[in-house]
Amino acid sequence: MVNEYCPKCHALEIMNVNTVERNEEDEKGNFFKIITNSYNCNTCNTFVRSEDQKIQIEYKEA
Ligand SMILES: [Zn+2]
Repeated sequence: MVNEYCPKCHALEIMNVNTVERNEEDEKGNFFKIITNSYNCNTCNTFVRSEDQKIQIEYKEA
């Protein structure tokens, strides 16, 4: 369970976490998985913050 400060509730609230995964390729042909966690207030559903995690899944020599 994640608690974050909600600017609308003006209090620490429990967050709903939404996780979205997508794959990305850079100009060198390296593949990455981007995992985005979005935090929404459980009480008022206001978007509070999101964070990206970038994981390299395949590396090609230049
Ligand atoms: Zn709230």
